[in-house]
Amino acid sequence: MAEDIKWFKTHCARWDHGGCALLVGVEGGKITKIKGDPDGYLNKGYTCPKGRLSAERLDHPDRLQYPVKRVGERGSGKWQRLSWADALAETAAGLNKVKEKYGAKGVAFGVGMPKGLEHFVLIRLANLFGSPNVIASQDVCHAPREITGVHTCGFYPVADLHNPTKLVMLFASNPAATNEEGQICSNLDQQLKNGAELIVVDPRRIDYAKKAGLWLRLRPGTAHALVLGMLNVVITEGLYDQEFVAKWTHGFEDLTGQVKDYPPEKVAEITWVPAEDIRAAARKYAAAKPAAIQWGNPVEHDVNAFHVIRGLLCLMAICGNLEVSGGNVNAYEPKIMGLGQFVRADLIPDKPKEMISRHYGVIPRLMTISPAFFRRAILEDVPYPVRGYYAMCTNPLVAWADSKKTYEAFRKLEFMAVADLFMTPTAAMADIVLPVAHQFEMNDIGHYGIGHGMITARPKIVEPPPECWPDMKIMNELGKLVSPPELWKEDHEEFLTDLLQPSGLTYAQFCEKGYLKGPDRFKLYEEKGFRTPTGKVELRLSTAEKFKLPALPSYDGLPEEEDPDYPLILISAKSPNYLISSYRWVKKVREREPEPVVEIHPETAARYGIADGDEVRIETKYGAIVQKALITDIVDPRVVSAAIGWWFPEGDPARQYDWDKANFNVLTSVDKLGKEYGTPNLKNIGCRIAKA
Ligand code: SF4
Repeated sequence: MAEDIKWFKTHCARWDHGGCALLVGVEGGKITKIKGDPDGYLNKGYTCPKGRLSAERLDHPDRLQYPVKRVGERGSGKWQRLSWADALAETAAGLNKVKEKYGAKGVAFGVGMPKGLEHFVLIRLANLFGSPNVIASQDVCHAPREITGVHTCGFYPVADLHNPTKLVMLFASNPAATNEEGQICSNLDQQLKNGAELIVVDPRRIDYAKKAGLWLRLRPGTAHALVLGMLNVVITEGLYDQEFVAKWTHGFEDLTGQVKDYPPEKVAEITWVPAEDIRAAARKYAAAKPAAIQWGNPVEHDVNAFHVIRGLLCLMAICGNLEVSGGNVNAYEPKIMGLGQFVRADLIPDKPKEMISRHYGVIPRLMTISPAFFRRAILEDVPYPVRGYYAMCTNPLVAWADSKKTYEAFRKLEFMAVADLFMTPTAAMADIVLPVAHQFEMNDIGHYGIGHGMITARPKIVEPPPECWPDMKIMNELGKLVSPPELWKEDHEEFLTDLLQPSGLTYAQFCEKGYLKGPDRFKLYEEKGFRTPTGKVELRLSTAEKFKLPALPSYDGLPEEEDPDYPLILISAKSPNYLISSYRWVKKVREREPEPVVEIHPETAARYGIADGDEVRIETKYGAIVQKALITDIVDPRVVSAAIGWWFPEGDPARQYDWDKANFNVLTSVDKLGKEYGTPNLKNIGCRIAKA
């Protein structure tokens, strides 16, 4: 009965980066309703379908309820129940055994997308254990933008959609389908209502493309050329902010020389974007004061990511849109504990020298290991053997590029423990599986450490099942067994108190407030300069030689050579219903999107004799899968867009739930990697299709 509902305030998480403030209705100890909280700083009452359905995961019959250990062959699906005391003891013994044999760095600690504090407790666990190797998908998510921003201008420039702007360029970003690190579409929609102009750069005709004044449908894998073309227009037509460039940039002459080779007509041939549209986009962006570039995760999805990101940073800078209200800003953190202190970085001072990725000469400050390098360490002992893996909130067998290599690597591990809500294809390969609490079942803090200048309160709403523990608690107890116990907490919730301590707030007071945000500060460089070696925005990187990085953004060709045997270009797009490989077992979500679908243009479908709903075999040089055809002109006739993250909870547990049947990453490879972050071609690769 509606009058018996009690409403609680919290923030959404675990189905993307989170950030939507929620009102959660509880009846009889169960969550029965979820809606957006109009007071939400990021969402103003908005939620997506995932947020509204997120409590469906709590009472699911297949949810893991107690710890288990493997009793058959690895991956055979045979398990034995364990008590928590035994599960922790066996996990500690497994990790310590690998440590004795290969050293602490022979054990890696893994996480998928950081959602709450558990991410940082995991880094702390790795640090205290003595391993420099935290494995995360940051090679294809967030870190390239963040770290390249730090090298170029001293900070990670975030699109400021909270203050009035004149123009927003959605560059490979679709906030209506996926929350891009707290950039929730309600703020963008408000800007558009207030009259901001919209430019969309996307190979798919996303809904925002229909609302945009200009939609640049680029050839996938050519974003770096497109940005160079826009820079060419801005510079040759003298549209840049002359005062800012003169005072605050380093290497403008070099950049000018570099972009001379990319006139719009030449760039149009590479990118398929008409020259007049490249000119129009550059002119509009340069003229609008201020203008914000909301740059999405796909800029990090192929081996040329560094050049795309560098080019966009140069564009923001020379047009005077860095660190201005309504432009791309430095999001200052509120007064809370710094990351280094939280993770006890001081206890592992040699980490940068000892990390697996050091061997590959990646960009300095990248503090996690690319999954491609991790698997080489397992399969080829390069640069040293790794044989132990503790993982949480992650499903790499499906989510990482080159799934077959992941499967081989996991088969070779000597010890593997996974903490998760459900048995996933990855958990199914572990020695120990630990059941975790859901976000609504624990006290947590969101948005810490992702560079958006705020943290959100996520208080517990309901009790977890008796043996499902918060990840923080699991690691706090495991930490006491594998590292000095005095460096861990009596109760894991002390981590929340520690983090908030500089703010002077208790966790309860913080929850009352809902969120903490750093101050809006603009043009701080006028007092202090930019935090780079030259004190300016480095259009030409002054550290390029030292770090063996390209000094200037450039176009060195497509991510993969063209091959007439694979004439179509394969891309993917995030689903509004799932997050990568998550939650295929949630009935209401599965009803919304029951199976993997590949988008094919009508002309292309006709050429290959494929009808809507047909099973389609999609094949690249690296593998083949089957998905169902959706005939649509959302994609260009030369492009197909396949669904990512698919596996089948209803499939055979002894075959890891059909991990290779429709899984996009069977089609990708890690043989070719971008040097700067170890990024593979996660999309933008040649493929062919046929009716299956
Ligand atoms: S957009 Fe993200 S944070 Fe907001 S409700 Fe959806 S899943 Fe949750």
